[in-house]
Amino acid sequence: MEEYTVTELEDALKVVKQLLPPRYECLACYLNRMLASRNCNGLKWCTTYRDLRAPRATAMERKFPDLGGYCDCEVLANIFHINDALWSSAEGGSADDAYVPACHKVRLGTIKPCELWLMRSGVQWGGGVFRSATRAS
Ligand SMILES: [Zn+2]
Ligand SMILES: [Zn+2]
Repeated sequence: MEEYTVTELEDALKVVKQLLPPRYECLACYLNRMLASRNCNGLKWCTTYRDLRAPRATAMERKFPDLGGYCDCEVLANIFHINDALWSSAEGGSADDAYVPACHKVRLGTIKPCELWLMRSGVQWGGGVFRSATRAS
């Protein structure tokens, strides 16, 4: 059996902590943060967030691809949209790509984004579970 030194374990723990969503950080802000420094690899960050923060949102893997989110970056591109009004860093809204506002926070147990993000329309969210809107036609 492999043995680890305390230092190795502490270093590993630091890395793991950076990968975890802080309490109340929303899924969209978490994804945005993870993808800024890491590669996209399927719905890995979405499922990490869901398992840790919103374990009841079990429909996620089924619903996100339905909406064009087959992987984390597509979820960020196709399902969550930046709420421009809250992302302008300076007066007059000068565009600064590096500016990322702090998460506005959500309650635990939901995969809804905070106010910094707009959800793709036609989608209803409830009780941390992702539901498709019934199509009226
Ligand atoms: Zn991707
Ligand atoms: Zn957020």
